[in-house]
Amino acid sequence: MEQFDTVVAISTPRAQGGISVIRISGENALAAADCIFSPLSRKEKPSQMQGYTCAYGFFLDSDGNRIDDGILTVFRTPHSYTGEDVVELSCHGGIYVTDKLLRRIYECDVSPAGAGEFTKRAFLNGKMSLTQAEAVADIISAQGDAFCRTAVSIKDGSTYRETEKLSQRLITVLGAVAAWIDYPEEDIDEITPKSMRAELSDISLELKKISATYDRGRILRQGIKAVIAGKPNAGKSTLMNLLCGCERSIVTDIAGTTRDVIEETVRLGDILLRLSDTAGIRTSSDVIEQAGIDLAYRHMEQAELIIAVFDGSVPLNEYDFELISRCKALLGSGTRVIACINKCDKETICEKKIIYDSFQQVVEISAKNNSALDTIQTVLTNMYMTDSIDNITQTLIVNERQKLCIDMAAARIDEALTALDSGITLDAVNVVLDEAENALLKLNGQKASEEVVNEVFSHFCVGK
Ligand code: GDP
Repeated sequence: MEQFDTVVAISTPRAQGGISVIRISGENALAAADCIFSPLSRKEKPSQMQGYTCAYGFFLDSDGNRIDDGILTVFRTPHSYTGEDVVELSCHGGIYVTDKLLRRIYECDVSPAGAGEFTKRAFLNGKMSLTQAEAVADIISAQGDAFCRTAVSIKDGSTYRETEKLSQRLITVLGAVAAWIDYPEEDIDEITPKSMRAELSDISLELKKISATYDRGRILRQGIKAVIAGKPNAGKSTLMNLLCGCERSIVTDIAGTTRDVIEETVRLGDILLRLSDTAGIRTSSDVIEQAGIDLAYRHMEQAELIIAVFDGSVPLNEYDFELISRCKALLGSGTRVIACINKCDKETICEKKIIYDSFQQVVEISAKNNSALDTIQTVLTNMYMTDSIDNITQTLIVNERQKLCIDMAAARIDEALTALDSGITLDAVNVVLDEAENALLKLNGQKASEEVVNEVFSHFCVGK
């Protein structure tokens, strides 16, 4: 196990609450706890306590005066979160008292912990893989059930186990290739050139299947970048407010009220929408409004999903046709569109057929009616959550780093297969397969560079 300084941080949010938890990890954790803690509920000092035990007592300053009373829990190496000796102090959840106790611990040869330092130590001490460590941050930031369950499953090692199996299979192939290089005359029992090809093809296929889960993983983790677009007065702001459950955009009868782009994150069931309401689509003589409309077009181009709103109570006009044609152009580049024929509480006059002929997903709603939420949620679920939650929570690639590693491994294996077919030497094949293996080792952290590890943990909060 690696040896680091003993560090401390407040692991609960820096806010008033019932309790605050301060965590100390490292060689001096128990000695530091002896300095600051006087047990009441038991006789032993913290350094004499067994792992997984706790004591009630007083936290003391350097003069022996009480700072607070609370619970101290001892975890002994290697059976702790970080793998080191860990002490957790639960004190009253006041900012002042917690800070005072923290400062007291600094006096006992303990340094402040950096962002994500406890989890980083857990990773460096072999308690978890890099994908599992990343899942810890995802559990903390999860905003929906599906992603929370996914993150929990990845933290439990689902992605690690699946990719580790493929890594082991690749190592077996690498072993055979190395043996063929060293002993070209001899037969290797376990694997033949033919079975090696089949094995490599299968590993590559499995990796591609895992890589294909990235879109779902990303949608669950970050949400879908969506934009609400439509001509002025179509009901965009009303729909935005309905989706947000609050008065977020200014709703008026005067065309052109929404000049800026208003952004909000909205959760509909398991789907997270990073939603923006844009200025109405039309040409404007108002310079500021025109700038808003241009921005709206740019947002449409960058969006993954366009919610195109049409006012069903009036005939389609040139601005609706402009929206239809812009949306259709974007469909080709992978953008998805839900066409909403709005104001269905009134008589529908607009030419619905044109809308139905233009888009696959069309809903007829009244943005003034809550049932529109269910209608849109159902369409979104059908569009993005085709798998059951149980499938979703299996192996998932949830960030760009993981996807790059998986894609690199698959690409190198494919390269090796092409090389084998074109009769390139086994030495060269070996080099390419080695790169594939390295990519998998980077994924789970066995071979990740210090920069990558630091980058991963820089996204954590202090105290985790
Ligand atoms: P925007 O310019 O596209 O953002 O449109 P607004 O959301 O500001 O709505 C324009 C007008 O249409 C407002 O008076 C809304 O109250 C009204 N409106 C919006 N949605 C509906 C709807 O579903 N039914 C009816 N009857 N009126 C609506």
